[in-house]
Amino acid sequence: MMSKIVFFSIPAYGHTNPTIAVVDELVKRGHEVWYYSFYEFQEKIENAGAKFIPCDDYLPELTPKIEKKVGKNFAALIEMGADTTINLDQKVCEELKEFKPDCIVSDSICIWGKLFAIKLDIPYIYSTTTFAMNKYTAKLMKQSLKEMFLMILGFPRVNKKIRLLQEKGYKVKNLISIIQNDNYTDTIVYTSKEFQPMVETFSDRYAFVGPSFSVPEIEGIEKKYPLVYISLGTVLNQNKDFYQKCIEALADVDCQVIMSVGEKTDISSFGKLPDNFKVYHKVEQLKVLQQTDVFITHCGMNSINESLYFGVPCVLFPLHSEETMVANRVAELNAGKRLKSDTPRSIREVVLQVLNDISYKRNAEIISKSFKKAGGASAAAKKIESVYNK
Ligand code: UDP
Repeated sequence: MMSKIVFFSIPAYGHTNPTIAVVDELVKRGHEVWYYSFYEFQEKIENAGAKFIPCDDYLPELTPKIEKKVGKNFAALIEMGADTTINLDQKVCEELKEFKPDCIVSDSICIWGKLFAIKLDIPYIYSTTTFAMNKYTAKLMKQSLKEMFLMILGFPRVNKKIRLLQEKGYKVKNLISIIQNDNYTDTIVYTSKEFQPMVETFSDRYAFVGPSFSVPEIEGIEKKYPLVYISLGTVLNQNKDFYQKCIEALADVDCQVIMSVGEKTDISSFGKLPDNFKVYHKVEQLKVLQQTDVFITHCGMNSINESLYFGVPCVLFPLHSEETMVANRVAELNAGKRLKSDTPRSIREVVLQVLNDISYKRNAEIISKSFKKAGGASAAAKKIESVYNK
């Protein structure tokens, strides 16, 4: 039976990308899908067959990129989410009352998706592109003092926003009730049970579907040397100092290096590159990883998922607490090794260790198997259908 499904996400690649293959799958299964998102994702969303609805004009003004604050400053995130909810309130409520969706799928930090579902009494699915979180796993994510400080500073402002939401008819009790997920909420997690830390603390309402993307075809190249791929993701990627150290570390090593430095990093500032280096603003990571032997990564969940999916061991260089949690899990399963420090010497040492000790590769391949078994986009689509067919 055809149904109507509405997605909400935030303006961030990491949170939007994994849902695209799910939208594609749902449309192929005959469902009508709407996606409230942002212009940078319009093409992808429309190509997947959904109706794209832009929310760019409803984000609070003068907002520094939301993603910058994720995992760093929860209070700021909630504040912005509350503002976006209030700005979108009239538009979305009118549209959805008419559309009458069977369910809403909303990203874990896209507060407005959840709040609209509650206000309009529509079945709701929580979709998390990071590890599933609860009070047990939260302890694995050690917040730095600064992060906690910023969060506490934000409390009075957050409470003001909560009162505003209540006035608009949203039944929210407090800060925790907005961000927290629980064992009674249907949840999609884009990793496998095997990779999820403390998986036994989550109920069977959680569907661990594994990474969700379509694998692009590549032409195999003949490699004389191992390929090292370096990327710090799409957000906090202006780290010239680190890239420079990687160049120094690997210039004389028998390896080829592809380094993706982000749109805003000036490549000419690196001067003349060693012969074994190719540096780009952006690469097709899913293609590059299929040829890669070791990935130096900031440990964004997507990058780690993609790397391990292709059985590529990692050199782990996490930058904030969520990434540290991901890095620790990879290190715990011995599918990668953390950089002790970011000196050229340490980078070279750890890269060579991960390249030369075959056990890292083997362990990455074990996780890869668990990912492929988990079902990906089609498992996510089945989970969504099961929620409103209950
Ligand atoms: N990515 C890419 N090309 C690049 C760098 C990154 O396609 O040159 C993609 C990568 O495949 C992943 C996403 O951008 O899907 C980065 O997400 P992640 O969660 O790893 O990090 P974030 O950018 O959110 O920090």
